[in-house]
Amino acid sequence: MLDLSQDAGALTAAIVDVESVSGDEKALADLVEEALRALPYLSVDRSGETVVARTSLGRAERVLIAGHLDTVPVAANLPSRVEGGRLYGCGTTDMKAGVAVALKLAAALPSPNRDVTYVFYDCEEVEAERNGLNRVAREHPEWLAADFAVLMEPTDGVIEGGCQGTLRAEVHVAGKRAHSARSWFGVNAIHGIEPVLARLNAYQARLPVVDGLEYHEGLNAVGVRGGVAGNVIPDSCVVTVNYRFAPDLTIEQAQEHVREVFDGFEVSFTDAAPGARPGLTDPVAAAFTAAVGGEPRAKLGWTDVARFSALGVPAVNYGPGDPNLAHQQGEYVSLEKIADSERAMLNWLG
Ligand SMILES: [Zn+2]
Repeated sequence: MLDLSQDAGALTAAIVDVESVSGDEKALADLVEEALRALPYLSVDRSGETVVARTSLGRAERVLIAGHLDTVPVAANLPSRVEGGRLYGCGTTDMKAGVAVALKLAAALPSPNRDVTYVFYDCEEVEAERNGLNRVAREHPEWLAADFAVLMEPTDGVIEGGCQGTLRAEVHVAGKRAHSARSWFGVNAIHGIEPVLARLNAYQARLPVVDGLEYHEGLNAVGVRGGVAGNVIPDSCVVTVNYRFAPDLTIEQAQEHVREVFDGFEVSFTDAAPGARPGLTDPVAAAFTAAVGGEPRAKLGWTDVARFSALGVPAVNYGPGDPNLAHQQGEYVSLEKIADSERAMLNWLG
């Protein structure tokens, strides 16, 4: 049984020592469910290896605190160990420290000033189809209803608002096949991508301010595919581009922008994920910012906050881990940062 009365650092270590690589979260999900069911003021639901617990006090606002239980594969970095104020081990920073803080809040707050929904989910570190939050959003969207969500991914204790969207597009250049010994009978499609690359080189990325936070877009080639054989003038070349777009654009608007940039070329889209507005101007988010303190910044990478945004729930990333250490063999989390984060969240909800 998980002892939720120990301090948040020791609780993080206990959780880290239950190995939970994506797809193998059952043992940890069982422990989390058991610990939450022991708290009489929470109602607990479970779907697969995702556990959702909530208070039902009839408060004016409901906030959601979420964290994933899974980790990337272990790299000879378990069990955890403490050294110089740091807890080392797989999943310490990403993001079992955040999970431990959320569990501490659940145990410490029988009567929080806002209703709270705690979500602990599986399979964040793998493809989106397996993501537990994705599944719950599809099958039980009512479990995720809230006015505001905090995803406790590692942010080094800084509030990171929203996230940028991402899409991949293929820009097709056509040519005419010919024998390379008589190349003048053909049109070389690889040579034909020059204007595509020129437009990318000249591209000025937007730095839009959305809900008070400055984002930084990017449009870049991430792949080139072309060539038939060593003696053939190629008739086709494809440049794959990745557009990271600020959350003031929908996927459709972002696609329209890419079409405009490559006007005159055939463009097709392979995949896309929407961004999420930070929503920090909402009163409910402003109260969170005031309680936690510090200067919020924009989240540039894509995270699961976008799934909340798609459900109409403004969401931020905020957690004690250091994002730069995530997925590293030497991953660790500062015990002081865990305590700071717990204090800030208690200050917000206590
Ligand atoms: Zn994570």
